[in-house]
Amino acid sequence: MSSDCLFCRIVKGEIPATIVHETETTTAFRDISPQAPTHVVLVPKLHSPDAVSLVKAAPGVLDDLFRAAGEVAEAEGLGTGYRLLFNTGEDAGQTVFHAHLHLLGGRKLGALA
Ligand code: IMP
Repeated sequence: MSSDCLFCRIVKGEIPATIVHETETTTAFRDISPQAPTHVVLVPKLHSPDAVSLVKAAPGVLDDLFRAAGEVAEAEGLGTGYRLLFNTGEDAGQTVFHAHLHLLGGRKLGALA
């Protein structure tokens, strides 16, 4: 946990967020600036700056994130499809340097840039 990391602070309940799912290792909450009707951010409780660092530090946690994403997608009724993505590094548009999996759905999604 890092005291100056936004997502660590959401995980600890210090900053409010709309939590939609929680497991032993993962917290999932609605994105504050949704890019689709459903836009949920899934974060490991363990602080790691990006997904590749996370898989090196704690490989099982990545499995947990994807499993939780499937559970959220089902709960949100996204049976016709959804997108899961990690922005990794500044050039990819990563703005919060605590690994997080975006889950987007609820509309037809365009091609990736
Ligand atoms: P990134 O651009 O892949 O790093 O994604 C960071 C995401 O976190 C963006 O989609 C932001 O809208 C979202 N975000 C930033 N601050 C908050 C917050 O306080 N609550 C929920 N989502 C946030």
